[in-house]
Amino acid sequence: MADRKEKTFRFVIVGGGIAGVTCVEQLSSQIRSGDVALITAGPHIKAVTNYKQVSKTLEEFDVEERPSSVLVEKFPNLTVIHSAVKSLHTQSRSVETADGRVFGYEKLCICGGGTPKLLTWDNPYVLGIRDTDSAQVHSTGPLCKSTSSNISTTPTSPISVAFVLSMKHLQKQLSSAKRIVVVGNGGIALELVYEVEGCEVIWAVKDKAIGNTFFDAGAAQFLIPSLEVDKPEKAAPCNRPRYTTEETGPGASQTFTADTNAQRHGSGPTEAGSALGPDWHEGIVLRGAEQLSRRVSLEYQCEVEKIFTSAELLNSPQQTLRPENEGSWPVYIKLTNGKTFGCDFVVSATGVVPNAEPFLHGNNFALANDGGLQVDDHMMTSEPDVYAAGDVCTACWEHSALWQQMRLWTQARQMGWYAGRCMAAHILSEPIELDFCFELFSHITKFFNYKVVLLGKFNGQGLGPDHELLLRCTKGQEYVKVVLSGGRMVGAVLIGETDLEETFENLILNQMDLTPYGEELLNPNIDIEDYFD
Ligand code: FAD
Repeated sequence: MADRKEKTFRFVIVGGGIAGVTCVEQLSSQIRSGDVALITAGPHIKAVTNYKQVSKTLEEFDVEERPSSVLVEKFPNLTVIHSAVKSLHTQSRSVETADGRVFGYEKLCICGGGTPKLLTWDNPYVLGIRDTDSAQVHSTGPLCKSTSSNISTTPTSPISVAFVLSMKHLQKQLSSAKRIVVVGNGGIALELVYEVEGCEVIWAVKDKAIGNTFFDAGAAQFLIPSLEVDKPEKAAPCNRPRYTTEETGPGASQTFTADTNAQRHGSGPTEAGSALGPDWHEGIVLRGAEQLSRRVSLEYQCEVEKIFTSAELLNSPQQTLRPENEGSWPVYIKLTNGKTFGCDFVVSATGVVPNAEPFLHGNNFALANDGGLQVDDHMMTSEPDVYAAGDVCTACWEHSALWQQMRLWTQARQMGWYAGRCMAAHILSEPIELDFCFELFSHITKFFNYKVVLLGKFNGQGLGPDHELLLRCTKGQEYVKVVLSGGRMVGAVLIGETDLEETFENLILNQMDLTPYGEELLNPNIDIEDYFD
């Protein structure tokens, strides 16, 4: 392999996502004389735009797909190679690309991202969603005939055919749909369910409440009324910290309809609230074939038992359908709560797995339980001179008590940036310490048109029973949750325009003993900013 090397670069970065591109930018600007190569499977790169540092650790930015030429224009020492890495040979310090070329490296950073976890990889009626919009590899299938160029798959995935759509392409599929089933309970499912109009949505979640990757049942209860209304509602504040959740048992279901009087059945929280979605599908109207505005039926605590076609259904006489399922649907989905739903297609929004596979064969990488490449506090994998950043890696250093890894753009950017700094520091034999951004977990997003800020151990992650919660909730307006441990603030969930993020970030970072303040901490009549000035 060594003698086939077309060229040896000082730095090779694999992956043109946020992690890879940020790593390239950092390295290229720090070591202007060094050769940098970006090897990426897709035709575009993802660029961070409109970056804004909101506070010490909170940052906001947009993600745009751009031609790689914008990077090359900016950094003359950069070469972009558009091909997937097929194999990595850490012994000979080389990578082989799908088009048969071999490149050597002095230092390599793997930023291959994640692969969507699809319920099944060979069913054209089961779709995954990508976070940005360009198509990559084409595939065919009954659903895709007219739009086959819109269907993409992670090119390096071991499975050759998958149905992973961008939001724009999902929009096309949706235009003729009357009913879809969304499976999953993370951010993607949450926003998709909220955005889809003119098409009935059956939403299957495995948990007792929606959105449990990001928040608890109390916040879910605050957000759920937004599924029922089109316009924000002004509501009376309830200032006392309060925490009530009606439990949703296995098989419990709820239906939320935005355009007519709400119909509800089953158990679970029932209230009313507001409208819109986050950055990754902003401006895209997801409208189905029906007149109704929004109709979401929630199926709690259930998973997918089986997915089958109408032909398979006919051959399975023991399979009984509820009256609303009669007629002919292209695909049927049976849930573990015993219910079967016919639909136009199923959206599999069950998260991603690290895309480490293409880099493993013949090497000795230590893998984490989630399948990510283990990295230490210098973003180094277990293989010499190989770094990793973003969704493909798992942070295996001893974390700060207030930080956890979540596979998000923010962390992909931070990791890519820090990996670039570490690679440069190692080449220059300079010391480098773990960056401050890994001190405190912080994330800003939008769910159901509410601004959502998550800080530290916002869900009491890893704290066991040893923590207290303080809550303030104004229906339809704001939900504030503070997590205290030993009287000190260790996390917070802020939904709505609370204006508390900077103060709470400071209180979390300085670990001040807040015991004397008790519930006053969330008293809406006290200007907390002045209080702690
Ligand atoms: P990616 O962006 O996945 O980039 C990986 C790159 O590696 C790609 O360019 C790919 O072509 C390339 N590649 C892969 N394999 C190879 C190979 N073998 N050889 C060469 N190149 C290769 N996060 C948020 O913070 N906010 C959101 O609103 C949000 N919304 C999301 C919505 C959806 C539908 C999805 C799926 C994710 C969302 N995320 C969101 C998560 C976020 O997209 C990821 O955490 C982030 O993009 C990870 O960045 P990355 O650079 O590690 O990987």
